[in-house]
Amino acid sequence: MSSYGDRTEQEWREEIIRVCRLMHEKGYVTATDGNVSVRLSEDRILSTPSGFSKGFLSPEQLVITDMEGKKISAHKPASCDLKPTSELLMHLEAYRQRPDIGAVIHAHPPICVALSIAGISLAKCLLPEVVVTLGLIPTTEYATPSSAKGPQVIKDLIASHDALIIQRHGTLTVGKDPFDAYLKLEKMEYAAYVTLILHQLGRETLLPPAEVAKLLRMRREKGLAREGEEEGFLASLRKSKGA
Ligand SMILES: [Zn+2]
Repeated sequence: MSSYGDRTEQEWREEIIRVCRLMHEKGYVTATDGNVSVRLSEDRILSTPSGFSKGFLSPEQLVITDMEGKKISAHKPASCDLKPTSELLMHLEAYRQRPDIGAVIHAHPPICVALSIAGISLAKCLLPEVVVTLGLIPTTEYATPSSAKGPQVIKDLIASHDALIIQRHGTLTVGKDPFDAYLKLEKMEYAAYVTLILHQLGRETLLPPAEVAKLLRMRREKGLAREGEEEGFLASLRKSKGA
């Protein structure tokens, strides 16, 4: 169930700004990278504007669009001349695919991006709490940033995952609110960091299948499992056995 409607627009504005600052402080975005949005209602999205550092935005600078990405006339003077981000199309596709979510975050965390370029996948069972909370983390095909292909490459994957890596570009996480989506981003970059260390050590030991089955049960009990994902887990276990 979506959580939009349980807070005022001003409260959503303030939460987006809090999350933007966290992303900036943690180094998940540099320069003017990244964007955060919230679904205010069926046809209204509140998002960060194009061309600003996420560390120094104010709540009044956020812009409201419809589900086509068209800006709704500004009622805050501070956002009058601001444009929605060109990457909003990815957010809109995520909202279309996921009626259950209320927020989307796109970031450029460096380790996730580096691993995607190196061809090192995060769609495997290494860390128990990541298996329970995020499941397998897939990587999309490459798409030119801000192009029409951006929404296409995330479309199917975001329907069945809360966190994914966009090849050579960044990440997309979704949640009931911006902080929920932010925590998934933080966990994903942590999983990438551990994976990087394991590659440096030259030892990557996967969780045994019986333990993965137990973790998947926990994931189901917490209501986090998504339809059809078990086949993905089985395939990754088969692949790792054969590897
Ligand atoms: Zn980007």
